[in-house]
Amino acid sequence: MIRSRQIDRPQLVLVVDDQEINRDALGVILEDSYEVICAENGEEALSLMNKHFADLSIVLLDLMMPVMDGYEVLKRVNEDERLKSIPVIVLTSEKSAELKALSLGAADFITKPFDVHEVIIARVRRIIELSEGRKLISAAETDALTSLYSSNFFYEYAGRIYRYHPEMKMDAIVLNVEQFHSINALNGREFGDEVLKKIAEAIREYLKDRNGIATRTNSDHFGIYCAHQDDYSDLLKSIQDKANSLSENVAIHIRMGVMPYREGIEPILMFDRARTACNSVRGNYQNPLMVYDEAMWAKELYDRRLLNDLSRAAEEKQFKVFYQPKYDIQCDPPRLVSAEALVRWDHPELGMISPGDFIPLFEGNGLINTVDDVVWKQAAEQCARWKQDYHFTLPISVNVSRADVYDLSLVDRLARLIKENGLDRNNIKLEVTESAYTDDSRRVLEVVDQLRERGFEIEMDDFGSGYSSLNMLSQMPIDVLKMDMKFVNNIEESDTDMRLVKMVLDIAKYLELTVVAEGVETKGQLDLLKQAGCKLVQGYYFSRPIPAEDFARLIEKEISIERN
Ligand code: C2E
Ligand code: CA
Ligand code: CA
Repeated sequence: MIRSRQIDRPQLVLVVDDQEINRDALGVILEDSYEVICAENGEEALSLMNKHFADLSIVLLDLMMPVMDGYEVLKRVNEDERLKSIPVIVLTSEKSAELKALSLGAADFITKPFDVHEVIIARVRRIIELSEGRKLISAAETDALTSLYSSNFFYEYAGRIYRYHPEMKMDAIVLNVEQFHSINALNGREFGDEVLKKIAEAIREYLKDRNGIATRTNSDHFGIYCAHQDDYSDLLKSIQDKANSLSENVAIHIRMGVMPYREGIEPILMFDRARTACNSVRGNYQNPLMVYDEAMWAKELYDRRLLNDLSRAAEEKQFKVFYQPKYDIQCDPPRLVSAEALVRWDHPELGMISPGDFIPLFEGNGLINTVDDVVWKQAAEQCARWKQDYHFTLPISVNVSRADVYDLSLVDRLARLIKENGLDRNNIKLEVTESAYTDDSRRVLEVVDQLRERGFEIEMDDFGSGYSSLNMLSQMPIDVLKMDMKFVNNIEESDTDMRLVKMVLDIAKYLELTVVAEGVETKGQLDLLKQAGCKLVQGYYFSRPIPAEDFARLIEKEISIERN
């Protein structure tokens, strides 16, 4: 409800205090700017509020009074739609009372003995402005399921603590339930609701003798704003235990992110960072508690910068494609047979950025298509150019991100690229990482099938890094296995590793798949792989990924060997 006031009259302030000396003091402080009326107790205050509600701008309310105290007044005001819109500032000498008053809807406090006059006048003015500008959330709104605060009220309240109590060092905590949707799906929503209630119960218990407030923002997301603690593992444990007390058959895992108090950071931002910390331990059942630190902040800023600069980078051709050769090592000397296209970001200010720094980021944001489009186009053009310049066909593999697989136009995009550059289908090969197959095998298998029908060759990248079973492998529509680097790393030192490599080679032979060993760096590794019958090798031993101009030298060398 919006209350109007006559413009030409001073604003009306009601001072409620049982002690005359306080009423007088405030009267003196405020009388130059406001018209002041007074009440000696809560009852009198309510009756004056009712009488003057239309033009009362603010109430300054003492908490400790005979007849009816300030808390009771706040409660009644909150229950009254009309009175609720009048802002109340609480007069108090006790810290703990302030929080309680805030939760009952007080807009602010003035501490006793009274502050500097200017401070009081400024606070009164500010609150009046605020309440005239927008209706303050007054009554404590709660979430029906858990009775924790609603997120609106929670953030409003946290904001007040932050603004008016800079001396209180508050931490922001965010917690979620791992795989909550599957808990609901497997055990029913009612069970899910019980879990949430247990969590709320544990949080409330924890906050009972600490300064703090809590919310459930949505579904299984909880927030706590609480006086600084050095360690929250107790809280996490008690929540975990309570949630798991419901059923012996369902294991509930909680993850938690903490942003410890830092001066001058608003609650909203504190919670953003707590959320970042919490997300960083998603799925990490061993260490589900993460405290936000400088490194995370730096990474976040860096990521934001990259996201921000992406479209410009594509326009300005900052993405450079490097090529790394693959050699057939069963020939003597080894023969150059193909290449992998690997992107780099030549950023005008940040320098050369490696794909490990931005590919996962863009995959997570659905922006990877932008990068892959650029890379595929450059790779196709390059392949055509080498064909023309050297009459040498060097098939180029490009990386297909799992996000690309969800793009319905993928098959057409690739087909068009081939046509526009006058290439054959087998000139561009597609590397799909193993983990994409395990993420959503049905969709990936479908798309990969279509691509193969259209004549594209598929290489399974990073084989051995994920969890595809041998059984799955036999059904997968692939042509080439790229054995993950970690297989090769230690084959010179470890017999076990070498045996694993041999096993992969055996399986591939059985399934009639070609194997590419990645990450080959030494002559020793090369020799072992050759003896074991591995056909193709890619790695620093032959060459790092290099720009097209440099790669041309490798082609020239290859041609001269072939001629002799
Ligand atoms: P990947 O597809 O497994 O590529 C192989 C990575 O291993 C490359 O890292 C390559 O430079 C590196 N490498 C090659 N030989 C050796 C070696 O002998 N020793 C060692 N230690 N490393 C070697 P890079 O270029 O940093 O790329 C990292 C990942 O980024 C790639 O892993 C791939 O998953 C992704 N990526 C790169 N370019 C693209 C792209 O254009 N699109 C997409 N979607 N992903 C890309
Ligand atoms: Ca690859
Ligand atoms: Ca790989």
